[in-house]
Amino acid sequence: MSRFTKLFLMVGMLLFAAHSSFAQNVVCTVVQPGQPWPFGTTKYCGTTVFGDGNGVAGTLNSFHLAYNSNNNSAGTQLAAQLAPFYIFGNAAQFTSYCQANPMEFHYQSANSCPGAPNGPPLSPDAAGFTASFPGTPLVPAYSAVFKTAGGNRQPVIDNATAHEIGHWVDSYYTVILGSPNSSRSSSTPNFQMELSEDWINLNNVAVNKPCSAPGNLFTDKVDENNNPICSGGALTGIYMNLSNEQVLQTAQPYYFGNASTDEFWAEQVAVVDGQKDNGAAGIDSYLQTPRFFCTNTLIRSLMQFGQVPGRAGSTYQWPNGYNCPVF
Ligand SMILES: [Zn+2]
Repeated sequence: MSRFTKLFLMVGMLLFAAHSSFAQNVVCTVVQPGQPWPFGTTKYCGTTVFGDGNGVAGTLNSFHLAYNSNNNSAGTQLAAQLAPFYIFGNAAQFTSYCQANPMEFHYQSANSCPGAPNGPPLSPDAAGFTASFPGTPLVPAYSAVFKTAGGNRQPVIDNATAHEIGHWVDSYYTVILGSPNSSRSSSTPNFQMELSEDWINLNNVAVNKPCSAPGNLFTDKVDENNNPICSGGALTGIYMNLSNEQVLQTAQPYYFGNASTDEFWAEQVAVVDGQKDNGAAGIDSYLQTPRFFCTNTLIRSLMQFGQVPGRAGSTYQWPNGYNCPVF
C-alpha cells in the first residue's frame, strides 16, 4: 500500500464521517467541466454514470438548437438562463445530496430540501421535478430527473428531461398569451380556451372511439394503477360509460385531472419536441396530433417563434377543421 493510497483512504474516511448523518454519500460530477451550457452545467449524480448525464445534456442541447429562431424562442431562453439540470439514480439520492449541499440550491438548511422533513414533499413516483429557489417561487431555478422512479419504474430519460424543460417553458409566454400577471403560460385564459376546444374534439367518437377503430384511443392502454382501460373492444371497469375526457381524467389524474394544467403543458412540450414515452402506462399516445391539436399548434408556435398562430406575420396558422379559438 503506497503512501498516496493511505492518504486517499484517510481522506475518504473523513468525508464519510462528515456525511455520516445522511443516508447516502451522494456525489455529483459535471458532465464536461469548462464546456458551455448545457455540458458544463449538467451533473450526473449518485448511481448514475457519465452517459446518463451526457444524455440529459444532449436533450437540452438539441432543444436549444431546435428552438432558437429569435429571442422569444424557448431554446434561446432556456440557454440564456443556463438552466442547471441534474440526473440522480432516484429521488432519495437527490434528497441526500441536497441535505449535504443545501447552499447549492439556495436552501438555508438541510431540512428545507425537497424530500427532507421540513421541505416540500418529493413523490417517490416522480420521474423528475423542477423547483425554484426560495424567495423567487415563480421562476424555475433547477431541474432533476431520476433514472428509476417509484415501483422501480424506468422512466425514458429523454422524455423526462424534455418534460422538465416544459416546466421552464411554462414561465416564458404569459405576456405573449395576454396575461402578464399569470405565473404560468398554462394557467392563462387563452391557453385554457384552446385546451377546452381540444377536449371537445377528443370527445368526438366519430373519429376517437375509445376501444375500437377509428381512434383506438385506449386500446392496449393501462391507467396509472396498471389496470386495463379496455376489454373486448369496449371500456371496462370504472371506465364504462365515461366520455374520453372523463376516462383520461380518471386514468391519469396527474396530467389530466388537476385544476392546474401545468403537468399537461410540460408533457405537451416534450411531445412537440419529439421526446415521447409511448409505453402502455405513458400518456404521450393521447397527445399525438391531430389530438390536442389546438394546444399542440399553440405550443409549437410559441416555442419556435414566440408567436400566436394565425396572426399577421405568424408562421403557423390554426389547423383547419378543429375550431381552435382565434385570439
Ligand atoms: Zn412535471
